Amino acid sequence: MAQRPTTPLISHTGQVLSRTVTFQFALDPNAQQRILLAKCAGARRFTLNHHLARVKANLDARSAEREVLSASDESGEPSTPSLSWAEFSFINEFNAWKNGASEEALVNEDGTRGLAWRHELPGDVFECASVDAARALENFSASRRGARSGTPVGFPRFQAKGKVTPSFRLRNRTTSGRAPSSQSIRFSDPSHLRLPKFGPVKVFGPTRKVHRMIESGRFHVYSATLAQRTGRWTVSLTGVAAQLHQAERSRTNRHAVPVGVDRGIISLCVAADANGVPFESFEGVKLLKQAHAKLKAADQALARTTPGSKGRQRARSRLAKRHRKVANTRRHLVHQASKALVDRAQVLVLEDLNVAGMARNRHLARSISDAAMGELSRQILYKARWHGVEVRMAERFFPSSKTCSGCGGVRNDLDLSTRSYSCGTCGLTVDRDLNAAINLARWQPHEPSTVTLLRPPRVALRSTA
Ligand SMILES: [Zn+2]
Repeated sequence: MAQRPTTPLISHTGQVLSRTVTFQFALDPNAQQRILLAKCAGARRFTLNHHLARVKANLDARSAEREVLSASDESGEPSTPSLSWAEFSFINEFNAWKNGASEEALVNEDGTRGLAWRHELPGDVFECASVDAARALENFSASRRGARSGTPVGFPRFQAKGKVTPSFRLRNRTTSGRAPSSQSIRFSDPSHLRLPKFGPVKVFGPTRKVHRMIESGRFHVYSATLAQRTGRWTVSLTGVAAQLHQAERSRTNRHAVPVGVDRGIISLCVAADANGVPFESFEGVKLLKQAHAKLKAADQALARTTPGSKGRQRARSRLAKRHRKVANTRRHLVHQASKALVDRAQVLVLEDLNVAGMARNRHLARSISDAAMGELSRQILYKARWHGVEVRMAERFFPSSKTCSGCGGVRNDLDLSTRSYSCGTCGLTVDRDLNAAINLARWQPHEPSTVTLLRPPRVALRSTA
């Protein structure tokens, strides 16, 4: 996570930086950079494991001593002191160890002390990994103390190669408004991102906008997270950005009537206003379906190959590519829909999804649409805040699908396979998702407290939507 300032940052051009924003880009590293990326990810795992092993050994030693003490009926604390799990202690300890200054440091064959390959990598890889280890341990200890809600967190897992997503983080060592140095994270030109020790790394995709935002002081990068998923390296630039322009935030041409948004099974979502007018439909499903079909074919092709063969390798990389395609298509569609909705509506009504229940859902089509809808509401919430749009959350048990938008009657016998809603009382026949969207648009909060007004966003914008 990026560090959060307590007072808003002011850029060198006088912009107040108050939005937390993340831009994600795919990278096209050269052969040397690819090796360095893998080394950095390895160094992160190495550093995390180093801290976890030290802490685990310390905890084990202390609990063994405690057992001896209690067996001999003595009171008192174990003689092994407990370790500090603070971020700065971890950073200092690891730096001393890696530079050969601590007693436990490695002694190399040539007599030098410390980690021999430490200078090849940006030093920040080690520091950020130390911070991550400290945070993981803090979650574990908070959970053990009962100071953390949610599912209990166990002792952090050791990072095994091939079992975790290769990733690492670098902080931007330039303060907002200062001239960039060799330690800065910045674009050297619109298609190259400069990272310490890496030089310019080629970036895919439209970077013009973020490049311009950085240049004009409207975006300050805190950190870059690099991760390799299905063979491709991506970078996520997290930082603070200036508010959108006033004209963007308070548009006058927005739809005045509340707009309800229902998740569609066939399309991503269906929106309609309280007067029953379909607002906007987000198709794009054809694209997603095609991508899914190709994914399935690639999966079957993999199953037909012989284990260990060249053909299997090829089939596996094709499958990875298809997975990436599906994920990218879905992400693109969700960004498109959320942007269109906050651009055009002044009040949006969403259904409050039961996230825990969603995970238990075994119907694939439904769970995919649930997942996309969860992401869609997340994006709508943060984009709405940027654009000054009001978002209302209809309570979880509001029967948006089962209510007739014509007469208000409720049918309890509607199952998921019924694609259209027909009412026995007033004779209305309407598309099921459209009916639900209209009902959502008309939803009235019973108590003011159920209205979610501009909930603050979690970490924000993905890709370049
Ligand atoms: Zn009716």
